[in-house]
Amino acid sequence: MVSSQDTIVAIATAWGEAGIAIVRLSGPSAVELSKSVLRFKAGSEFPPPRLMRLASTIGADGSVTDQVLAVYFKSPKSYTGEDVVEIHTHGGTLAAQLCVESLIRKGARPAEPGEFTKRAFLNGRIDLSQSESVLGIIRSRSEEALRAATRTLSGELSAFVSDIREELLALQSALEVELDFPEEGFSYPYLHKSDEEWLGSISTLRMSLDDLRDRCSVGLLLREGIRVALSGRPNVGKSSLLNALLKQARSIVTAIPGTTRDVIEETVTWQGVPIRLVDTAGLRLLPSSAGSLRAQDEIEAMGIERALDELRRADVCIWVLDASKPLGDEDKAYLEDLRDKDYIVVLNKSDLIAADHPPAVSEEDIRATSPEEMPAVLSISAKRGDGLELLKDAILSMAKGSGALNSGLNVTARQFSEVSEALSCLTSAEAAMAEKNGQDVAAGLLGSARECLERLLGLSYDDALLDSIFSRFCVGK
Ligand code: GDP
Repeated sequence: MVSSQDTIVAIATAWGEAGIAIVRLSGPSAVELSKSVLRFKAGSEFPPPRLMRLASTIGADGSVTDQVLAVYFKSPKSYTGEDVVEIHTHGGTLAAQLCVESLIRKGARPAEPGEFTKRAFLNGRIDLSQSESVLGIIRSRSEEALRAATRTLSGELSAFVSDIREELLALQSALEVELDFPEEGFSYPYLHKSDEEWLGSISTLRMSLDDLRDRCSVGLLLREGIRVALSGRPNVGKSSLLNALLKQARSIVTAIPGTTRDVIEETVTWQGVPIRLVDTAGLRLLPSSAGSLRAQDEIEAMGIERALDELRRADVCIWVLDASKPLGDEDKAYLEDLRDKDYIVVLNKSDLIAADHPPAVSEEDIRATSPEEMPAVLSISAKRGDGLELLKDAILSMAKGSGALNSGLNVTARQFSEVSEALSCLTSAEAAMAEKNGQDVAAGLLGSARECLERLLGLSYDDALLDSIFSRFCVGK
């Protein structure tokens, strides 16, 4: 066992009134400490592993404080890999708290956030990506997100990443052997004759990693939600659109007023994916004579900066236009902020357009604003609720790209960036291999890609990384 001599204790269930609360102990003295605060019925002893037994907890003055159930998981077959005892007290916080206090008096130490899971990782019960998915399960806000976290906990991500890592290792070693000993006929699994064959092997691995990145990017969306920023000049109906989407939603998960005035974030769930809508309405932006945006005063400048920041961070932006008014310079000024972003054009107030009339803003006008690709254009009415489902579909498909929701793997931003970094190393290795004499560079890049995957799995880590991961957990997990 890697862990120290400490035996840690914490309440593993949420605070508040409930049927039961669970006090969890882990470490070498878990059994001894729990024996010192538990009294079993005459004739019955501390239970053998995995058998629950009724007991009483004894307070500092020797009096009975609660009637509980105790269960023992013997090392190494426990969550942490150490001796673990769970004491199921009555719910509410007092009974469990008294039990924890008795255990601390006897020598247990209060657990730090995530310390049980950290010990599970250090003792090899789960790898780092599985540890992080535990937090994903706890924090899941939709069924899809929960399923993706469970897939990761069951080891789907680790298995996929481990396979690619082994392939990378074999490929890199073979490439290095061939570079060092070009004349010797080693029978290595990857000993290829031509550069084309080397290239083929690297490309195959790059495609697998591409696939993994797609699955992780869907998982990240499920976990973090899609950030959507609404932009457009005043009175086009941004706030009305936000309200209409919220009113229609089955579940509103959060409502967080922004810290700067007029920036509001709300979350709705669509097909299991949280969509985080940020409205930058009310930020009074004035086009200057040169056509750029100018702040009226200092507070407004802060508001503008905040709005631009929201637009930069957004996964999908929505440019809202009033379909009943011709496209003006003021509308176009807002489009400037969306350059280089994925955006959807929404023609709001479709109810004001007579059925036999074209909208005041034509497709040609919009096409003329976007010299490259024609963005998706949707006609909606926030007032009547028309077109909102199509809008949510468009947001979802723009954000998830080709990844399928049911294959998403729950990853954290850290894990996603390791996969993306590995992919970029492999893409560069492919390019290097395509060059003459690029084998040396390619071998180095294969090594860098492998290191990214090793950090993801936790095969290489440092204390700072572990601290930053586990400190986000709750106490008792
Ligand atoms: P914002 O400044 O872009 O946030 O615009 P608001 O949401 O405050 O809306 C400006 C005005 O347009 C209000 O009077 C709304 O009632 C009206 N409005 C918004 N959406 C619609 C719509 O779909 N149809 C009609 N007819 N009016 C709308």
